[in-house]
Amino acid sequence: MRLANRSGRLHLVTDTGAVDVATTSGGRFDADPQKIYPRWAEFRAWAEAAELPDGRPFDPADLGSPVPAPAQLVAVGLNYHDHAAETGVAAPSHQPSVFGKFTSSISGPCTTVRLPQGNVDWEAELAVVIGTTAAHVTEADAPRHIAGYTAAQDLTERLLQMSGPVPQFGLGKSYPGFTPLGPWLVTPDEIPDPGALRLTSAVNGEVVQDGNTRDLIFGVPALISHLSQVITLWPGDVILTGTPAGVGWGRQPPRYLSPGDTLTTHVEHIGTLTQRFT
Ligand code: ZN
Repeated sequence: MRLANRSGRLHLVTDTGAVDVATTSGGRFDADPQKIYPRWAEFRAWAEAAELPDGRPFDPADLGSPVPAPAQLVAVGLNYHDHAAETGVAAPSHQPSVFGKFTSSISGPCTTVRLPQGNVDWEAELAVVIGTTAAHVTEADAPRHIAGYTAAQDLTERLLQMSGPVPQFGLGKSYPGFTPLGPWLVTPDEIPDPGALRLTSAVNGEVVQDGNTRDLIFGVPALISHLSQVITLWPGDVILTGTPAGVGWGRQPPRYLSPGDTLTTHVEHIGTLTQRFT
């Protein structure tokens, strides 16, 4: 199942196009995409049994984030060995490096982003969306708390991220438009193996990151289990799982985004994000 936010309304994406959930369910489910997650099991049961009308063609530019307003937007740093190596920082071994992004940075999949002063860098990531409350869950139990997956960019202004006596990960990664998500949520049954998804970033068509989630240090079940020992994960929360090697900061010389650049991010079995920069 694929779920999209089309012009602010929740849609199921079918072979023929987009089907409005609130209309098709006779008002049983809200049009607001974020409100579906607290009712995830009930919604999935309905969607799997419902006789859906033909979908309507839609313009990807009209899509917003399939999770527009999570209560918590959790991100994980240094979760690929090759990325840790390029930053010159030792990779974590016992527990993941976790930080928060601010949810006002979330956008849909096709956007124009205004570059702030500084060095803005790219980070292609697999994002996980929580479907049922997770507290103190084991790795074995973690998958049943997942609503689905989406593609993410964790855009980062490196000067602010690293300024001050201690790094400011959250602030440097939370300018408007710095967390594009989409193009839709894909449920786990449509992903053969979330631990073997190719993910890429390209700047003006030149591939700069080409990784695979099989190289995650902490895979998705381990992340959910680790996080849930401390914080309670709520339905509709988003976890960015980290980025592979190839960020601009790790290059010699470093390379950052400029006005006029187009960044294309692709996650296998999910889809593509496209950001233009001004
Ligand atoms: Zn990141």
